[in-house]
Amino acid sequence: MEAVDSRPEIANSNNNEKKADLEEKNPNGLWNPMTEGVKWIENYVDSLERFFERLPAFISTFIATFALFTFGATLRGEWVIILVTALKQLSGETHMERNSTSQEALTLENLKMSHFGSFFIGAQVLAYSIYFLIGGFLHWYFYVNRRDSAKEWKIQPDKWITPELERHEIIIGSISLFFASSFSAFLACYFYNENPSTLYYQFDEYGWIWFFLQFPVMFVYMDYTTYIMHRLYHTPWLYKNFHKLHHKYKQPTAFSVTAIHPWR
Ligand SMILES: [Zn+2]
Repeated sequence: MEAVDSRPEIANSNNNEKKADLEEKNPNGLWNPMTEGVKWIENYVDSLERFFERLPAFISTFIATFALFTFGATLRGEWVIILVTALKQLSGETHMERNSTSQEALTLENLKMSHFGSFFIGAQVLAYSIYFLIGGFLHWYFYVNRRDSAKEWKIQPDKWITPELERHEIIIGSISLFFASSFSAFLACYFYNENPSTLYYQFDEYGWIWFFLQFPVMFVYMDYTTYIMHRLYHTPWLYKNFHKLHHKYKQPTAFSVTAIHPWR
């Protein structure tokens, strides 16, 4: 496919040519994550370039860094859990007593999972918005705007992911994103409904020392578990069955992050 190599020409051509170019790559009219998911941002190449040229370097670097951070920190829907915790904190609510409900009918209320539908839809909408909006921005910032200066930011400056693989990682990434944000919606709803958990909503509930200590402790804990899990996924059986897919992308992009086996 010629999509990657023709990008500089896309940037220099007028809008009609850009549109014709995009339509040409999607002749069968099927949804194509490459054209409609990411390449939408290439329609705004000129205005984005003009805007970023006017910004002081430290501000444009900050925007890109913040976009990267947000992309990594919120993709799997963690934001819904953080939001629930923050709202509970603001409302001053602690673990409250619940009225026991009758267990006759299998309703969301009786399962202590009220409003699950709203959590589910909210988590999906936000996860995909972040994935394509911030992902699209990062795609433009690095792969369109800074393509010529790849030596400054890219570990493999002379090697680029093929358009086929980029499309592949966006499709796999979108599928995994659905499972990850569904699970986050479940967790957020579970906490929202006062189910048993170790989450707490008052800063001083466990003392102030633990309040400050929990951040480095959780960071180290997560860092080690992520490392150990990744190490395990490189053992032959797990690698072959679950992890090999993720390493298909030898020149990873932002979209490779969620392009993992849905089970993981
Ligand atoms: Zn690996």
